[in-house]
Amino acid sequence: MSRNLITELQSYGLRLDDVNAGAPSRRGGAGPSDHKAVTVDGKTVMVPVHTSGAAESPFVARAPGSDGFAVLERDGIPVARITFPPQPKFYGLATADGVPYWQIAQLHGRDVLATTVLQECIRYTNRKTRCQFCAIGASLEAGRTIARKSPQQLAEVAKAAVELDGVKHAVLTTGTPNATDRGAGVLCESAAAIRAAVDLPIQAQCEPPDDFAWFAKLRAAGVDALGMHLEAVEPDVRARAMPGKAKVPVNYYLRAFEAAVATFGRGQVSTYLIAGLGDAPESILAMCRTLVRIGVYPFVVPLVPIAGTPLENAVPPTAAAMRDLLGTIGAMLIEARLVSADIKAGCGKCGACSSLSVFETA
Ligand code: SF4
Repeated sequence: MSRNLITELQSYGLRLDDVNAGAPSRRGGAGPSDHKAVTVDGKTVMVPVHTSGAAESPFVARAPGSDGFAVLERDGIPVARITFPPQPKFYGLATADGVPYWQIAQLHGRDVLATTVLQECIRYTNRKTRCQFCAIGASLEAGRTIARKSPQQLAEVAKAAVELDGVKHAVLTTGTPNATDRGAGVLCESAAAIRAAVDLPIQAQCEPPDDFAWFAKLRAAGVDALGMHLEAVEPDVRARAMPGKAKVPVNYYLRAFEAAVATFGRGQVSTYLIAGLGDAPESILAMCRTLVRIGVYPFVVPLVPIAGTPLENAVPPTAAAMRDLLGTIGAMLIEARLVSADIKAGCGKCGACSSLSVFETA
């Protein structure tokens, strides 16, 4: 039941009676966005609430009652009771120089601290190279974040988020600052500062760097898991959806994955694949088989067409299409014993942006 419900919620999105219920929704930023965290049957998932599709969704969450539970209706019929993770306590703090902690890092899902260390990207500044699904600049323009989070700021916020809100792991992502280390250097500095301040498993996310020696440096800095995101796999789809990033060939990603698995271990390297950018399901599945063979966790998520991006009016995959895709990948992961529960930190472990983890049980 929750498998279908979660998959459908992520495909259709959700209308909210009370837009202020729970923690503020995630708008803009790198990667999938325009979501709100919702807990269904004990599993916290990110559900689109600001997309154009969500406005037409058959799902409505009624305002939560005094017990914190909200009735979820589908076409006017109650189907579940849900909760919204509350606003974390660390959002109420600010650095000595007055930067609110929530502009430095955010709570994702239920227990993940997430930040985009560099909110700027060489690919985003030019419309011809920008990833069509990405809104990394939107939250900066809207004043919801700062351009660069210093290692000291990140360490301060991470310590507070662990102590006040019990966050369990962290995701450090970054815009791509150059065509050489592609962000690995800044992620090393950030992870080292956080690990010096608090015991918090970290996933770093960047494009594959030009020199694979960066993987050992990231590991030595305290990074436990690494994400390098393919997003799309077919050459035409890559060229259309991410014209800048597509200049880094898939073969280079595969070589980088092999080197990274040798450093971080099997299952501790992952990649986002976004269903709905135009790849045929068979292409996604073939890539997943290759990734699993290398030891890389394929985190397959449905496209969330973010307002203000070139793909804002794209139609996300149907729930039935996602169920078919994730069901096959889930079986593949069970057989290979490469499951999200064994990941030390990051998006695959959090799993809130996809219902994949609920397909990892037989
Ligand atoms: S899966 Fe990743 S991007 Fe999605 S909510 Fe969890 S940490 Fe954030």
